[in-house]
Amino acid sequence: MSEHTKTDGLPDVMPSAVLEPVVLDKSRPRSERMASDKIECNACPVLCQISPGKTGACDRYANASGVLVRVDPVVLLRRTLEHDDAALVPFAARSDESAAEVQANPLAAQNEVFVTGIGSSTTYPDYKPAPFIVASQRDGVDMVTVVTEGIFSYCSFKVKIDTDRWLGPEQANVRCKGEVVGHVSTAEYGSQMLSLGGVHHLTGGSKKEGRVTCEMMLALGNKEAVELTIDGGSQVTIQSGKAPIVNGVEEQRMRVGCGSATIGIFAKQFFGQADEVVVVDDHITGVLTQHQAGRCLDMRPSGIRIRGRKSTPGRYFQVANPGTGWGGTDIADPLSIIEGWDSETAWPGLKLLMVSTTGEHAAWYVLDDALVPQPAEMPAAMQSVVERIGENCEPSLTTVLFLGGAGGSLRAGVTENPVLLTRRIKQAMVNVTCGGAPAYVWPGGGITVMVDVARMPDRSFGTVPTPALVAPIEFSMRLDEYQALGGHMEHVRSLDDALARGAWHNDGAPTARRWVANASANPWPLGEPPMLG
Ligand code: SF4
Repeated sequence: MSEHTKTDGLPDVMPSAVLEPVVLDKSRPRSERMASDKIECNACPVLCQISPGKTGACDRYANASGVLVRVDPVVLLRRTLEHDDAALVPFAARSDESAAEVQANPLAAQNEVFVTGIGSSTTYPDYKPAPFIVASQRDGVDMVTVVTEGIFSYCSFKVKIDTDRWLGPEQANVRCKGEVVGHVSTAEYGSQMLSLGGVHHLTGGSKKEGRVTCEMMLALGNKEAVELTIDGGSQVTIQSGKAPIVNGVEEQRMRVGCGSATIGIFAKQFFGQADEVVVVDDHITGVLTQHQAGRCLDMRPSGIRIRGRKSTPGRYFQVANPGTGWGGTDIADPLSIIEGWDSETAWPGLKLLMVSTTGEHAAWYVLDDALVPQPAEMPAAMQSVVERIGENCEPSLTTVLFLGGAGGSLRAGVTENPVLLTRRIKQAMVNVTCGGAPAYVWPGGGITVMVDVARMPDRSFGTVPTPALVAPIEFSMRLDEYQALGGHMEHVRSLDDALARGAWHNDGAPTARRWVANASANPWPLGEPPMLG
């Protein structure tokens, strides 16, 4: 074993072949008519023929003086780096035997570095080993991380938009630049879910639909703003980690709860200030004196009659149509949901608070002699309860989760026996990350991963014109585990070697690296026990 590739802790299972640089067969282009100075990129099925100085259709690969290179740098995570470092550090030529020694990074020895799939390149077709299979140590355990850029045709974004406002009917089409790119999914507690992208829109419709879908997904994954319109609903601008903009108005607050929950939370604070409180909500409008919370406080019935469908005491569905008014309804005048008052029960001088679930809308009334609510100045004590409702609302955000299927041929870049990888992931013996960010792996068959793009480094995603999305993915496990599941042991490289000389392959490999700080919210991507146990 030559010195420059030796890593302490690597067991004897590594064959000597690990040391030899591997050169891909670039012999003949598939098209005999291809100009001799062009290079065929085989990093995806498009097989671009790239002229000198030009890039391929995805702008990710280029012909640099007759050599096919991955244009973007590999992103390396560093645990202790406070800010991203924009500097590009070139890799030494893989043929430079002394490079690893010369550029050995002390951080590698301290396990301060993690090679991500961002910019790592793809060794398509997948029967070739992944571009980086990197040995390292964690807590004295020999580890390996298999790193690649996956090409995902089967992928989508699940978007959670914190808002009460009406975005559109469930199942409605979501459009970008006029093309259908997804649909409205379920409403959740204080949020509306959208499903965007997916193979049906990428490849199952017109060419334009696929192209627009792919562009929209790329922007969304890379934390950029995307403008969408919903059939029969609203116009929204969404961006990971930012407040959604609905019909041109930036959303501020996520509701404290539904109308019934708001009654329950604040009943004691309403008590003694108002004789009746109605919390207007598109889902469940709450009425204090009829609600169990009001009954527990022994409140006198007010005789109010509310429009809509009564669910249980003090809880009403469908008091109005959904919209962008009070509490996600279409009303601007809260009194419009009051059908009337029972003259036997209500009384002149009754004090009524109408409020929305975010506290953004609130009005105070007193019943006159004819039992008609008359607007009045809200007492300061009640005003502070309304403000407390607002205080308990969290800021509205857009959350963007990438959902991708990595259970196909991508696994062949990891192991010769792909099902073993799938099984070991399910048994939590393999940690899956995307750009170093923790990925949730769905139970059941396949490797269906989900990751919050906000936790990934900027510009983690790319595209290819098939069309499909390119996303980083890393599989970390114990080195002996990797050998047991049929891993490509002959391509395991030391961390020093990977840092100094890059990917194992010469053709289409990245030429430089860039440091990025590990996001403070993310655990170190090498994983936790039992993987280390
Ligand atoms: S689209 Fe990109 S990855 Fe695919 S062949 Fe062309 S240059 Fe290579």
